[in-house]
Amino acid sequence: MDQGLWQAYAIRYAWHHRTARENFLTGDVHDGPMPIDYFIWAVISGERAFVIDTGFDEAMARKRGRNFVHCPGEGLRKIGIDPAAVQDVLITHMHYDHCGNHDLFPAARYHVQDREMRFSTGRYMTHPHMRFPFDEEDVIAMVRRLYRGRLVFHDGDEEIAPGLSLHRVGGHSMGLQMVRVRTRSGYVVLASDATHFYANIERGIPYPIVFNAGDVLAGYKRAYELAESPDHVIPGHDPLVLERYPPACPDLIGWIARLD
Ligand SMILES: [Zn+2]
Repeated sequence: MDQGLWQAYAIRYAWHHRTARENFLTGDVHDGPMPIDYFIWAVISGERAFVIDTGFDEAMARKRGRNFVHCPGEGLRKIGIDPAAVQDVLITHMHYDHCGNHDLFPAARYHVQDREMRFSTGRYMTHPHMRFPFDEEDVIAMVRRLYRGRLVFHDGDEEIAPGLSLHRVGGHSMGLQMVRVRTRSGYVVLASDATHFYANIERGIPYPIVFNAGDVLAGYKRAYELAESPDHVIPGHDPLVLERYPPACPDLIGWIARLD
């Protein structure tokens, strides 16, 4: 494997029934079923692996009424990653569906943006509307990691390994970051919730959970700038990802896609 060339994977672990108007800040006149998928991602280069987000567990799925299909750890094992051995977890943001499964990565350092920690532990969380997508146990678990020397802070854009970089977007959550990765097919942008669906970025209409709509829209532009092509931007929650990209191997159809 060339230095700084990565394999990239999207691993689906849950889904939820939605209608289209629930997925756009300004609604959708063409309302109809538009289910949402939940993913984590992983990138691998030689012996090195980074996990991007940690998903939620079955208990959280019950609490929030989501359909849980596979433990994120099970998906990682399918592509040869042992969660217990993972050294680095990149947290795009701290919403409940991106930073649960607290005990799955006991050896990992967690990478977050300064602003996401400030946001999730600060004054904006006095508003029920703002804290709704967060779970207090996730935030407490992150503070514990901080005091155990397992948090790495980033502020803005940063290369964290050859061909792998973080890019702060904000918008959907104050400290949301995307991950850009160099692959054999060019630069792929794992946008996470910088765009939930292809349709959000293509129509320029944010998903309804929003901290700052202007930054969401600037993030769409940034994602397209950083990616090899619009097709190289991977939305955070779109079932189409598993249709547009091939399965990592034939028995993983509908579960794990190869993005490079
Ligand atoms: Zn989110």
